[in-house]
Amino acid sequence: MTSRQRDAPGTPGRSLALPEAAAQKRSGTNLPRVGGYNQAVVLDAIRQADGVSRVELAGQTGLTTQTVSNIVRRLLSAGLVAETGRAPSRGGKRRTLLTIRPDAYFSVGVHLDPDMAVTALVDLSGRVVTRHRRRLPAAADPDRLVPAVTRAVDRVVAASGIARRRVLGLGVAVPGPLDTRHGLVVEPPNLAGWHEVALRDAVGAATGLPTVVDNDATAAAVGERWAGGADRAGSFLFLYLGTGIGAGIVYWDRVLRGDTGNAGEFGHTVVVPDGAPCRCGARGCLEAHCSPAALVADLVERHGKRAAERLGLSLDPLRVRVDHGTLCRAARDGDPAARDTVALAARRIGQAALTAVNLLDVSRIVLGGDALRGVTDLVIAEIDRQVNGHAIARRVRTVAIEPSLVGLDAGAVGAASLVLHGTYAPGWRMLLAES
Ligand SMILES: [Zn+2]
Repeated sequence: MTSRQRDAPGTPGRSLALPEAAAQKRSGTNLPRVGGYNQAVVLDAIRQADGVSRVELAGQTGLTTQTVSNIVRRLLSAGLVAETGRAPSRGGKRRTLLTIRPDAYFSVGVHLDPDMAVTALVDLSGRVVTRHRRRLPAAADPDRLVPAVTRAVDRVVAASGIARRRVLGLGVAVPGPLDTRHGLVVEPPNLAGWHEVALRDAVGAATGLPTVVDNDATAAAVGERWAGGADRAGSFLFLYLGTGIGAGIVYWDRVLRGDTGNAGEFGHTVVVPDGAPCRCGARGCLEAHCSPAALVADLVERHGKRAAERLGLSLDPLRVRVDHGTLCRAARDGDPAARDTVALAARRIGQAALTAVNLLDVSRIVLGGDALRGVTDLVIAEIDRQVNGHAIARRVRTVAIEPSLVGLDAGAVGAASLVLHGTYAPGWRMLLAES
């Protein structure tokens, strides 16, 4: 996928403009002693706008112009925003416009997928400056992983030529479930051999950077919100399709995390009653039927070994990623068996997405993750049919189904954005306290 992708089959759903929708912008508070929060709100508003004046900021955030002016003065002296031009105003006096300075600070994101680690250095706009991809051995041992992550972080920082003091922190995205309060990875079904790994503290100590750890799908959703600017304002469901399947939920510009920080375990929605056993212990989960490994198995089961031979699949469990890539390319090129296999998986994802949309009432679904390589259009079309295919559902809302604006690095960019996102510590608040 490339950035700023072409139109999705679904048209953006703006059919029902509820009064609440207009009030979705985060409001500040004029109470004293909460400057950190207000600063984060103002900074986020500047970041989302393509040039905004102090008066407009006051209107958008609900803060007084005096409070906005004070915050802007601090942001200017911290080098986080710049005055970039003037726009005419009704009174004749021209208003100074403020924009974010993307190269003021940076953060590093690491996405640990079971067999691949992607590390990226990202600027304040969510743009990737340098990246590093490295295959991980099967069942990566946490003790060996921490030094590997540290080396990868050092490498992307060194390659960028950026001084380390301008790197605000490190975000690590891993498959769930997690204990986000303590930064523990709790026996993720997709990382064999991991049991309550204190990843945050270990990586933080090894790199010397403030570190946050989160679920990969949630991180990808935060990154999409961050890098997507106005195109990703409001609410959306981010479906992450990688080795596993997960969802990140952005609801009225906030990330919905759940009581334990594990909201969005979309891959464990049951789509086939009494279906295939899932690594989570249940049967018939989406992940058990639609993961890359499941797709390869499904092709063999429904179209026979002949079809797998024709496509040149190895059927070696250690080469699932390669086989899945081959299967997806064949589907894209029109092979009927491969196309049918991908379409069935996409239909099941669409069914689960329909349930989620009915539950959450969101008007946009964003798809990301590298299991979509080559089949994004096919998967989007099938999900669109499931979600928007019923006349009554369409009358309530048309759900836009769109590819991620971040692209294949969604996990790593998302991890980096965890450091920058206002709801996380350390975030803007840490940065502003320092300056
Ligand atoms: Zn499951």
